[in-house]
Amino acid sequence: MSSTDTIPFGDAPDLRIPMPKSFARTSLPGRLLFGEGALDDLAHELDNARFRRAMLIVSSNQIVLAQRIRDALGSLLALEWTEVRQHVPAELADRCGASAASADVDVLVAIGGGSTIGLGKAVAVRTALPLVVVPTTYSGSEMTPIYGLTTGREKKTARDKAALPQIVIYDPQLLTGLPASIVGTSGLNALAHCAEAIWALNADPITDSLALDGASRLQRYLPMAYGTTDVAARGQVLVAACLAGTALGIVGTSLHHALCHLLGGMLEAPHAETHAILLPYVISYLQPAIPDAIGRLADAMGRQPHRLARDVWSLAQAVGTPPGLRAVGVREEQIEMVTAVALDKNIASPRPLTHEALQALLHAAWAGKDPQPG
Ligand code: NAD
Repeated sequence: MSSTDTIPFGDAPDLRIPMPKSFARTSLPGRLLFGEGALDDLAHELDNARFRRAMLIVSSNQIVLAQRIRDALGSLLALEWTEVRQHVPAELADRCGASAASADVDVLVAIGGGSTIGLGKAVAVRTALPLVVVPTTYSGSEMTPIYGLTTGREKKTARDKAALPQIVIYDPQLLTGLPASIVGTSGLNALAHCAEAIWALNADPITDSLALDGASRLQRYLPMAYGTTDVAARGQVLVAACLAGTALGIVGTSLHHALCHLLGGMLEAPHAETHAILLPYVISYLQPAIPDAIGRLADAMGRQPHRLARDVWSLAQAVGTPPGLRAVGVREEQIEMVTAVALDKNIASPRPLTHEALQALLHAAWAGKDPQPG
C-alpha cells in the first residue's frame, strides 16, 4: 500500500469502537483430549499422571459403555460403582465416597452423562481424590466446578475446584449410541448454558466468544446430530457442549438454571428436558431487559432477535423436546408452589421477578405453547 492510499474507515459511527469490558478471572485447570477413539488413550493418560488404582463410576444401565471403559482401563481398574441417580442424592454420594475411601483407589474415573459426572464430582470433593471424566451426553458438567446434591426435595449446588476433573476425554464415537431423544434435549441443555453465560452479569469477552461459538454450532449441527447418528455431527455438538460448560463454569448461573433446579429438586422434573422446555420462555421474559445479550445470541444463531424465543422453541420441538412441563410429570397446580419458593429464594435475574410474571412464565412453559404467538 502506498503512503497516499486511504484506509476505508466507513461511516463516522463505526469509528466509535467500544472499549472491551474490564475483567479479571482465573482460568480453569485440567487436560482435555478430543477425538474419535480418544477413549483408547485412557490408560496411557492415567499412567502418565501416575495413577495406579482407578474406581470406575458408570451407570448400571450402560452395559456397552461399561465394557468399553473396562477394556480401556485394563489392569488399572480396581473397583466399580454402578449406582447412579439423577440430581445426586447426598446419601448416595456419601456411600460412594466411603467405598472409594476404603478401597485404596488413587483416582476416580466417571463415564456417562451429567448424573454420573455429578456423582464423580461430589465424591471427588468428599474424598479429595482426583477425577477423570469421559462425558457421553451434552451436559457440559465436566467443564464446571459446580456440583449439585439433593437432600429430600431440595437440590443445592456448590462450587469447588476439587470438583473439576484433572483429565477430560471427549470421544464422539461414544455418543453415536445416545438415543435421539437424549441428543435433542441434552443439546438444548447446552444451548441454555450458552444463553445463560451470555446474559450473566460477570460475562467477559472470552466467555462471550465461547458461548456464542457454542450456540452457533448447536444451531448448525444439533438437528443433524438428532436426526442421524453421524459421528461428526454428534462430535460438533460435543464441542459445543464443552464450550457451553466452560463459559458457564466461569461465569455462573441465573434465572434459567435456578428455575430448572427448583423444578428438578422439588418435583423431580428431568434435567435436560426441563432445560429444553423452559429456555424459550425464559428468553421471551428476559428479552426486554437484555436486548444486547439477546441480539448477540440471535446473531450467533443466525436468527432475528425479536423472533429468538420462538425460533429456539421451534428448534426444541424439532429435536424432540416434550411439549411442555405438563409432559414431564409437572401438575399445573404445582406452579403456585414453585413460584412461591422461587420468589422466597430471591433468585438472581437480569429482569426483576414478580409473582405475576413468574406465574405467567411457568404456566406458558407448562402448556408448552409457542412463546410468541401471533
Ligand atoms: P443423565 O446423566 O441422567 O443421562 C440421561 C440418560 O442417558 C441416562 O439414562 C444415561 O444412562 C443415558 N446415557 C448417557 N450417556 C449415554 C450414551 N452414550 N448412550 C446411551 N445412553 C446414555 O442426564 P444428563 O442430562 O446428562 O445430566 C443430568 C444431570 O447432570 C443433572 O443432575 C444435572 O443437575 C447435572 N448437570 C450438572 C451440570 C454442572 O455444571 N454441574 C451441568 C449440566 C448437568
